[in-house]
Amino acid sequence: METFHILNFGCRASRADGVALKAQLLRAGMTEAGDAPASDVAVINTCTVTATADAEVRQTIRRIHRQNPHCRILVTGCYAQRAPEEISRLEGVSWVVGNSHKHRVAEIIQASGQQPRGRREATSSETAADVWVGEISAEFHFLAAEPDDRTRPVLKIQDGCNARCSFCIIPAVRGRSRSLPPEQVITRLRELAGEGFQEVVLSGINLGSYGRDLAPRATFLDLLKRILAETRIARLRISSIEPMDVSADLIRLVAGEPRFADHFHVPLQSGSDRILRQMNRRYWTAQYAERILAIREAMPCGGIGADVMVGFPGETAADHAASASFIDSLPFTYLHLFPYSARPSTPAAVRRDQVEGRVAQERGTEMRRMIARKRQDFLRSQLGRTLSAVTLGKSRHGETMALSSNYLNLSLADCTMVANRLIRVRAQRVHEDGLWGYVEHAQPPACAAESN
Ligand code: SF4
Repeated sequence: METFHILNFGCRASRADGVALKAQLLRAGMTEAGDAPASDVAVINTCTVTATADAEVRQTIRRIHRQNPHCRILVTGCYAQRAPEEISRLEGVSWVVGNSHKHRVAEIIQASGQQPRGRREATSSETAADVWVGEISAEFHFLAAEPDDRTRPVLKIQDGCNARCSFCIIPAVRGRSRSLPPEQVITRLRELAGEGFQEVVLSGINLGSYGRDLAPRATFLDLLKRILAETRIARLRISSIEPMDVSADLIRLVAGEPRFADHFHVPLQSGSDRILRQMNRRYWTAQYAERILAIREAMPCGGIGADVMVGFPGETAADHAASASFIDSLPFTYLHLFPYSARPSTPAAVRRDQVEGRVAQERGTEMRRMIARKRQDFLRSQLGRTLSAVTLGKSRHGETMALSSNYLNLSLADCTMVANRLIRVRAQRVHEDGLWGYVEHAQPPACAAESN
């Protein structure tokens, strides 16, 4: 029986694809190996959001091939969709399977199961690997969030994006927006609740566009209401939602329902209106601020995060200063900071006014310092509070970890509880990037009451 091992890179949606890939291979009769070089087939599920992400993938391929030249490597995901020829020329790569064919990975491996294994030599004029990359279809192929060993399964309910942000390669590698029909979302959530999962993360590439492709048309808000009414999953977390989709109704629903995590992640990208225009983002800073402040009013202790980019082409010192001061003025509890990375075939990549790497790095460092300060302020504000959380398992130091509803890492003193329990934690002390606390009490698993 052939063995496989999957290595996942990238965002939550990509990781959800990785979980579904695993289920696909298990269903096909393959077994999972503990490590990529020890497997017959190493599946590398890639990301291509930055040049660094691409480089990490190439490095991983080289490492696996060096450690075991007999391991056949299958590269799939966003990088595979964007640059199949480039990947197919890397030594050790047997298959390149784009997002267009990701749902057929098991079939592709089995169809070529008779091929001799071993070191494959590639030349620049020869395609050494089998390449499976085509147009992305309008169907929602990938049904993710198979029950896994993870405590917080990610259910991908939407894929692709119809927006055209000038820096972003995602629409080219994931296609147009498409959604998992509400009935299937409900079914999967009931199954996950039945498996004993307490928290499920609803994810997508552009969640706010959920349902616009369906007939009859659905909306993300209606889906959330149906989930509340028709499933008993104990906690739902919305992974990320674009600012223009954060409506007053959505904030009211999430803030008013204890089953939703006390958390919003709303990509900003830049706090300068001039740069937002050039990025082709569809909001002004004033509109963004209005939504973040509305979230804070409705959720006084909620976690609020954003994606922010530094060094977009043409970003001047004044733009950067405006962006930093805008971010500082808002009640963020964490930020994901990305240095701009030129992605081939995007409008921003061909601009002549690219920001020098050193300057972008300095801006990143300055922004990181500011974020760390805001983060510490928020952590301190939580001391003495009782936080709802889900246990995650042990840290490498042996203490039980948990994630709070408002997206804080908790370390639990004297706690022997297994993963995946809903608990209430009294926050006692700030440590590094999280809080120490003790368990006040645990709630019974939601699945105990789940009848579906
Ligand atoms: S909204 Fe913009 S940044 Fe986000 S995936 Fe779509 S094109 Fe990319």
